[in-house]
Amino acid sequence: MTVKDPVCGMELKEREVRFTSEYQGRTYSFCSLACKKKFDENPEMYLRAMQT
Ligand SMILES: [Zn+2]
Repeated sequence: MTVKDPVCGMELKEREVRFTSEYQGRTYSFCSLACKKKFDENPEMYLRAMQT
């Protein structure tokens, strides 16, 4: 199974994900700590971008 990093758009293997954040009851996965930090600073912006 793959999940998508909402910051850079990279497809990640779920079992290899090392960085995650919870936001509004959902868990988001990131390729790197840098992407996680960007998401944590402005989650709404990235979630809006994902939905387009
Ligand atoms: Zn990323």
